Amino acid sequence: MSDECVFCQIAAGEIPAQVLLEDEEAIVFHDLNPQAPTHLLVIPRRHVESTGTLETEDGELAGHLLLTAARAARQAGIHDSGYRVVANTGNEGGQTVPHLHLHVLGGRPMSWPPG
Ligand code: AMP
Ligand code: ZN
Repeated sequence: MSDECVFCQIAAGEIPAQVLLEDEEAIVFHDLNPQAPTHLLVIPRRHVESTGTLETEDGELAGHLLLTAARAARQAGIHDSGYRVVANTGNEGGQTVPHLHLHVLGGRPMSWPPG
């Protein structure tokens, strides 16, 4: 855990979040500033900075996060209409919280390319 990290603090229960589901490895909660009718964040409990710092041995965790995103989308009722999974990575990727997270966005049509 990184003491400075807001998502580590959410994982530790030290700051509140609207949690949709959780298990031993991951937590899914609603984004504070939603960009779509459904906007969820999937995070690992363990502090990993970004997709760019995942190591080969983190492969199982990375897969679990993706499966958890799909499970969360089903639970939130956006599976059938479709949704987007995004991992902003680094500065130009638009990452503002340096704790790996998957955005799960749905409930409206998504445009492409992203801004
Ligand atoms: P990113 O810009 O890809 O790093 O995404 C970070 C996301 O975290 C943004 O969409 C923020 O709205 C969201 N966020 C930041 N702090 C919190 C919080 N305490 N609870 C829920 N979502 C948060
Ligand atoms: Zn963290």
